[in-house]
This record gives sequence, structure tokens and C-alpha cells, in this order.
Amino acid sequence: MLITIDGPSGAGKTTTSRLLADRLDYRYIDTGALYRGVALAAIWTGLTPDDDTALEKLCSTLKMEFMPGEKGLRLISNGSDVTDQIRTPEISMFASAVSARPVVRHFLLDLQRRLGREKKAVFEGRDMGTVVFPDADVKFFLDASPKIRALRRYKELKSVSSQTLDAVERDMRRRDENDSTRNLAPLKPAEDAIRIDSTDLSVEAVVDRMLTVIENMV
Ligand code: C5P
Repeated sequence: MLITIDGPSGAGKTTTSRLLADRLDYRYIDTGALYRGVALAAIWTGLTPDDDTALEKLCSTLKMEFMPGEKGLRLISNGSDVTDQIRTPEISMFASAVSARPVVRHFLLDLQRRLGREKKAVFEGRDMGTVVFPDADVKFFLDASPKIRALRRYKELKSVSSQTLDAVERDMRRRDENDSTRNLAPLKPAEDAIRIDSTDLSVEAVVDRMLTVIENMV
């Protein structure tokens, strides 16, 4: 099966997808890491996020792949492990900006579909069920209240950033706004997605719900 999990940041997609993939013995693919990888390469090259010509050139020379590591997947970009560098608030905002550019989405669409060819995978992102894998076997849309999502992001970021909870929430709301109002592949649930609100649920409870849905399908 190919399983997709979409939703806004802080909804719990990453931990949930990882655990679900683990339980099913599937691969787990964090597509946000790919947008972050493009953002990091663009910053290193000194590009502005709206320079389509330069972004296209950058994408044509960018080779990104996932490699298994001790603490989950590592993102290798043009031969360098950039897994830790892509997690900063600056990269989050830049990723959101470049993700609205058609050249970037087009480049990553091909890459994501190639990664999905063998199925037996859980893909996490914003447009997995709507655009990248409209024929996915099971689609989930994971959401939670903005306050809880901000708190989760704040705890996640503590080791890499000194941002206050208020600043995290402000950035998160800006990113939600960018991601859900862009013309191309905006963040929204697929019509056939199963919605789960994780505000009052533990990761285990969310994964159990997902497993029940999946078991009822086979
Ligand atoms: O999921 P994560 O927060 O790491 O994603 C970073 C950014 O990448 C998002 O804010 C969004 O703009 C973009 N993204 C996207 N489509 C995806 C995954 C991520 O546009 N499938």
C-alpha cells in the first residue's frame, strides 16, 4: 500500500508517520525535508526565493536522497548530510516561500513519485493525497488546534533555536497561511482523506486509529 499523511506543521505528522511506518515495516518519507533541502541549497547559493530562473538551474544540479540513519532518515544533498541544518526556523520560512514556486514543485513532484514507485511507504507532507499521489491506497489528514501545534513546534525547536513560544506561533501561522493560500498544490485535505484531530490524542492513539482504518481495508 501507499499511505499519505497531510496536514499543517505541528499536527504530529512526522512522529505519527514514523511510528506508523515502523509498525507496518514500511518506508517513511518526509517530503517537507525535500523542500527544506531546496531552501538550504538556495540560501547557500545566495538566491532569493522568487528567482525562478536561478531556482530552476539550482534544481537541475541538485541530487537529494534519503539514507537510513541511527535516529531516522538522513537527507543527503549533493553528497552532504544536511539533516540537522534544515531544521532551523529560517529554513522553515524559506522552504515555505520556495514551495510556492512552480519550478520547485515540478522538480520535487518527479522525485517524490519516483520514491513512491515501490509502494509500501508512508509519505508525509502537504499535497501527498491531493497532487502527488491522488491514487494512494489510504489518505489521512492530520490536524490539531493552533495552540497545541505551536507548543509542539516550540518543544521540537528548543535544541536548535532560541525562539519564544509566541514567535514560534507567529511563524507557524504565517507558514500555514502561505501553504494553504498558494495557487499550486495548497495545503488542504483530499476529498477522500480520513481526518484525524490530534489535539487531545497521543501519538500512539493516532497511530492506533490509523492502523484500525488500514486493517479494515485489507
Ligand atoms: O513539513 P515541513 O514543515 O518540514 O515542511 C516545510 C515546508 O515545505 C512547508 O511549510 C511547506 O511550505 C513545504 N511543503 C510543501 N509540500 C509538501 C511538504 C512540505 O509545500 N509536500
